[in-house]
Amino acid sequence: MLIAGWKPFSLVDVVGKVTFTTWACGCNLKCPFCHNWRTAEWQGCVELPVSKFEEELKDASDFVDLLHLTGGEPTLQPKLVTTLSSIAKKVGVPFSLNTNCTTKQSIELIEVADHVATDIKVPYQELYGLNGAFDDLWNTFLKCIEKLASMGKEVELRIPVAKDLTKNYLNEIKRIISMFDPSKVTVVVNPLVTEPLTDPRDKEWCSKYCYKGNMESDEENMWREEIGELGVKVKVKRWLN
Ligand code: SF4
Repeated sequence: MLIAGWKPFSLVDVVGKVTFTTWACGCNLKCPFCHNWRTAEWQGCVELPVSKFEEELKDASDFVDLLHLTGGEPTLQPKLVTTLSSIAKKVGVPFSLNTNCTTKQSIELIEVADHVATDIKVPYQELYGLNGAFDDLWNTFLKCIEKLASMGKEVELRIPVAKDLTKNYLNEIKRIISMFDPSKVTVVVNPLVTEPLTDPRDKEWCSKYCYKGNMESDEENMWREEIGELGVKVKVKRWLN
């Protein structure tokens, strides 16, 4: 069970929640905009010190809303997901899983989470960062999403917005969001940004498709209105004020 570390209090990982956030190592995708690519490539990882972790979660438990496991892609290590879910249950903190929903295991492992966060990465042919074999991954994603929508859990759906690309897939994005009970969903519109705000995996790709800061207000309003029409909570992520 390899992790890149944890942070006992975070205000930025799940909208409106204080989380105890842990980063799992490894990922099956190679998203060009990924800023956690070192962790995704198993760099700087340590074995989870189970007792120490449980002790720290216990100490923080009165002040956090969720134990949030992110990555990397946590479902590459099913034992890590089930272990953290058990620790969360024991300590009495709801468990939140951030998964890309493209692994077969993710379809099973969403069951142990009280809250799930996932990205709608479109166009997946560009955003998955893989040469081919992405259609199968997208089909797995859709299966995972269908199951998640039928489970009635609290969900955070994130839309990583690549400049001039993602908005062309608005109908598909809206079709996916509308599968969920609107009262259970928060949608986060997340403009992909490049250096110096982040350190993306593929700087050349990002120089074409990432923002230098916030979106123009017209574009922000377009996303708010289009997604807001579905009756869900919408937050557009802002990087600079
Ligand atoms: S799924 Fe997440 S962790 Fe994996 S490469 Fe993409 S952005 Fe990075």
